[in-house]
Amino acid sequence: MNTEAAPPTHSIAAFLRGYSEERRLLGLRSECGFVSATWGLLCPQCGKRDLREVTLSGHGRIAAFSVQTVPAEEFVNDAPYAYIVVELEEGGRVTGWIPGVRTEEELRIGERVRWVSSYRPGVQFERERSAPEGTG
Ligand SMILES: [Zn+2]
Repeated sequence: MNTEAAPPTHSIAAFLRGYSEERRLLGLRSECGFVSATWGLLCPQCGKRDLREVTLSGHGRIAAFSVQTVPAEEFVNDAPYAYIVVELEEGGRVTGWIPGVRTEEELRIGERVRWVSSYRPGVQFERERSAPEGTG
């Protein structure tokens, strides 16, 4: 490996710190417009190394989900829960989870969710129940 390359402006450690300590959801943005909440070095859209760290709003909508009743060991105290893919307001997607979801009837595609800062593993979300429905 060539160790003389410029170090990236972002790191996995910073992401994890953001989740649990700084109470913000970090993401990456490329000049081409690509946004991601998943850590990486290269923009998958244009291939450049121009990803810059941004703070994401943490608001988005459920793009896909499934309810897990047989959890990985790190989630054993939280099952059943929903494993979700969230389409963020900024346009990127992130995989995360919502504790306490027992059946697939409890969620729907397009439902609004928001990220919650948590010491639990993974990227945790909650449903935005306080926001009034209706503008559909
Ligand atoms: Zn790009």
